[in-house]
Order: sequence, then structure tokens, then C-alpha cells
Amino acid sequence: MTVLEGQPAAAGHGSGLVEMRGVQKYFGQMQALKDIDLNVQKGEVVVVIGPSGSGKSTLCRTINRLETIDDGVIFIDGKELPQEGKALAAHRAEVGMVFQSFNLFAHKTILENVTLGPIKVRGMNKAEAEAKARELLDRVGVAHQAAKYPAQLSGGQQQRVAIARALAMEPKVMLFDEPTSALDPEMIKEVLDVMIDLAGRGMTMIVVTHEMGFARTAANRVVFMADGAIVEEGTPEEFFTNPKSDRAKDFLGKIL
Ligand code: ADP
Ligand code: MG
Repeated sequence: MTVLEGQPAAAGHGSGLVEMRGVQKYFGQMQALKDIDLNVQKGEVVVVIGPSGSGKSTLCRTINRLETIDDGVIFIDGKELPQEGKALAAHRAEVGMVFQSFNLFAHKTILENVTLGPIKVRGMNKAEAEAKARELLDRVGVAHQAAKYPAQLSGGQQQRVAIARALAMEPKVMLFDEPTSALDPEMIKEVLDVMIDLAGRGMTMIVVTHEMGFARTAANRVVFMADGAIVEEGTPEEFFTNPKSDRAKDFLGKIL
């Protein structure tokens, strides 16, 4: 990207907390992300939906640099996402991520799962990290499980711990990639309720989900992807009641 003469280096980025511009991503010959422009404002909740294979996970993974990009640029809070090194580790700490599979550390207690990052990456002392972890575990409704191991918890409880663990790092933005799709139906609501509460507290969130109830309750915007591109976007109301593209109409016809 061109930087205007006489402007500070960061000039050119907008006011978004997460800003993707012209992002292209290939896996071999296959283009997984096609010219993605996405600007997420501070406090905004963006739901990303689209068919399987449309690039939703890849999009999330480029934002915390679990995947490199082939062209374009990504800014987090006005700073360009570094490609590697210490700067990347620091930057990645600003982006919390919750996956479909809960990915807790199996051989650590619930409490240790939540304190590990703040102690190792943020340099927090143990007592402080534990106090904060207990507060977060309480907030997501699993305070009583602190001494247990992940396998002793239900899927819904584990996913709430995963959310607490991400929040313990005090991220500027939270990414959720199909956080409820591996859960039994009765556990979905307890995880969505935690996410709705988080949205209500002003957290900036990018959420890949097909949970329309969540989108209608908590999302400011729905982004619809197909074949690696953003095909359309709008408010949940606009998108669900009056999708514009044939791709979106077809997709909604299948899931609603
Ligand atoms: P979604 O999350 O929307 O289902 P993905 O982002 O997982 O889609 O995948 C987008 C496309 O990129 C798919 O065609 C998928 O097969 C391909 N893809 C994703 N990850 C890789 C990878 N590590 N190597 C090769 N192809 C990949
Ligand atoms: Mg996916």
C-alpha cells in the first residue's frame, strides 16, 4: 500500500479495530480468500456466515496470523499485523480466539488453563493471575470447576473455560470460529449466553456461526462469504429478511 508523503507511516488505515484490505490467500492453486476488505469497528459484533469451504476459518486465522497472507494488509488497532517474530507474539496477544474444538490443555487444571497465558505472555504474577482467572471463571459460570481437569467437564463447560482463557489475556478483539458447532444442543445456549453477555460489555467480536438467534440478538452486522469472497453484508434484519444475492438466498434457504 502507498503511504502519502509527509504522513505518518500508519496513515491510510481507517478507524477500524480490525481492518483487512485487499487480502488474498492461496493454498497452492486454490484461492481461499479473494480480495477481502473488512473493517470492524471497536465494540462492533460481526457475524460471518457462509457455506462450508467458503473461507470463514481462513479469514479468522489470518487475523491472528495462524495463516500468512499472500497480498493485502491487516491492521489491528491501527498497527499492521507483523509477519513474524516478537512483534507478532505481542500482536497476537491482542487477538483472542475460540475454536470449534475447545483446545484446552488436557494436563492442566481449569485454573491453570486460564492463568498460563497471563503469567507467561503478559508477565502477570501468579496471585494476580489466579484472582483474575477466578473472576472470569465465575463470569462464565464454571467457578466451581477450577481445580478439575478439562476431561471432567462437559463440552459446554469446556468451551466457556476456553472463552475465559482467551479473555484473561485482555484481548482487543475476540474471534470465534463456530464455537457451538461441536456441542450437544442443550449446551449451545449456555455458550451463546456467555457470548451475548460479552457483546453487551462492548467487546469487539468476529463470530463465525450459523446460530441465527445469536446473530439477531448480538450482531451489528452479518457478513456473508462464498467461494473465498465477501458476497454481501448488512444488518441481521436486512440480511435474513431480504438477502440480495442469489448465493445468500440459496444458502439461507438451506439453513433456515
Ligand atoms: P470454511 O471455514 O468456510 O468452511 P475454510 O476457511 O476452512 O472454509 O476453507 C476454505 C478453503 O480453503 C477450502 O477449500 C479448504 O479446503 C481450503 N483450505 C483451508 N485450509 C487449508 C490448508 N491448510 N491447506 C489447503 N487448503 C486449505
Ligand atoms: Mg471453518
